[in-house]
Amino acid sequence: MALQRLSGWGRTAWTVADLVHTNDVSEMKQVINQSGARGVIARGLGRSYGAASQNAGGSVLEITAEGDPHGIDALLDSTTGVLDVASSVSLDSILRMSVPRGWFVPVTPGTRFVTVGGAIASDVHGKNHHFDGSFGQHVSSITLLLASGEVVELTPRLNPEWFWATVGGMGLTGIILRARVSMLPIESSRVRVETERLTNFDAVCEAMSSDGADNDYRYSVCWIDLLATGPSMGRGVLTRGEHASAADVKDDDVLAYDPRLKVPAPSWVPNGLLNKWSIKAFNEVWYRKAPGSRHVSIESIPQFFHPLDGVHQWNRLYGNQGFIQYQFIVPLDRIDVLRAVIETFSSAGVASFLAVLKRMGPQNLSPMSFPTEGWTLTLDIAAGIKGLPELLSRVDNMVLDAGGRHYLAKDSHVSPTAVRRGYPRLDEWMHTRDAMDPNGLWRSDLARRLGLVSAQHTRGNE
Ligand SMILES: Cc1cc2nc3c(=O)[nH]c(=O)nc-3n(C[C@H](O)[C@H](O)[C@H](O)COP(=O)(O)OP(=O)(O)OC[C@H]3O[C@@H](n4cnc5c(N)ncnc54)[C@H](O)[C@@H]3O)c2cc1C
Repeated sequence: MALQRLSGWGRTAWTVADLVHTNDVSEMKQVINQSGARGVIARGLGRSYGAASQNAGGSVLEITAEGDPHGIDALLDSTTGVLDVASSVSLDSILRMSVPRGWFVPVTPGTRFVTVGGAIASDVHGKNHHFDGSFGQHVSSITLLLASGEVVELTPRLNPEWFWATVGGMGLTGIILRARVSMLPIESSRVRVETERLTNFDAVCEAMSSDGADNDYRYSVCWIDLLATGPSMGRGVLTRGEHASAADVKDDDVLAYDPRLKVPAPSWVPNGLLNKWSIKAFNEVWYRKAPGSRHVSIESIPQFFHPLDGVHQWNRLYGNQGFIQYQFIVPLDRIDVLRAVIETFSSAGVASFLAVLKRMGPQNLSPMSFPTEGWTLTLDIAAGIKGLPELLSRVDNMVLDAGGRHYLAKDSHVSPTAVRRGYPRLDEWMHTRDAMDPNGLWRSDLARRLGLVSAQHTRGNE
């Protein structure tokens, strides 16, 4: 056990906890038994942006397999594509093993450096949500360590309440030890990508609408230039893709996969490097670089799915003030609100290095899973910008009044009321959570801030 300063990927709200790195269940039980009033939370690779895997003054169990000398604890059935995997294993490790054998993860977020435990706990989504749903929908069983020390097997058929409370449950139902995940068969390690520049917000919405051709593509996402104003407001670059067939690929080894990290980010960067002017310049180049009319290319998996992973620790580019990631969703028919939000950001001159729009498919059975049918916009914004909290609170209200919500894995800003309004099944989930953890062992900084753990379970003199 060692006291350690921890933050999320946004590097904003640092707190200190007793950090224990272990993949051993008896060691985990020991930490549980010795935990104090501030309880315990699991941590994967720390890629959630806010404080989901932090626990100020309490214990944090870091469950990762990076550098494990025994190799990765994952067994892939090449006939069925079912992967039996330890929660500590990252999608990066899985892909290195599975792609050359013709299998891809069913859902990947924008980084492959997340653990299976983190992917289930946040019920992560990818560019294919409208097509395949989120990660939890491809999980057929979860092995969970409860607060009592008991290890249980959860499946969507045998114990649906506990299974779906754990999917999207932000680590607050127990420690995910293992899972069985259905993988996607692929013929090649490349992606056939169509890229198209869209001149304004209306063109973007039309191209991505649910009754158009967008449904024919497994992967679809649009980068938005948030600083464009006037007739160009909401302009973007739409990329859509599908795994390339063997015939699409010219190389001899159609399943070759070599995701090398390229450049490291500098270890020190001044605050304000990514500002309105540098981002405006970047946006202009990025927009102009995209083809004026639809263009087809063959890209590698890292190029298409994980471009940011090419820069090691790119989160340091925001300087020591860190940054906020803000992700919300509004229902499909509230394009008016989406437009108003984009106008609000662009007229305030809020610069986002990465503003991404995606149309999501229907919600799954998890009460706390973020995706629901609608439009989700994700923004990176440097922390410390004057007036930012007030601006975001205004946007929060626009989102919530429209029946939308915010993504907890990204959050470091919203209020407990916003979560209550955005997640109408919160009480039902808390009821199940309390049954799984009657003494309120599992707690995180995020859970305390947003009131995700019942007040009656405040432990000792917390
Ligand atoms: C560049 C980048 C791009 C991203 N793109 C996307 C995206 O496209 N879609 C998306 O959905 N998300 C995205 N994310 C967010 C990321 O996928 C999630 O935050 C994910 O949960 C991180 O996994 P992790 O292993 O780093 O977990 P952590 O960040 O360490 O923890 C996240 C949550 O999982 C819980 N947890 C972790 N391990 C376990 C376990 N073994 N048992 C129980 N609970 C556990 C933690 O308690 C915490 O609540 C992105 C993040 C980054 C940095």
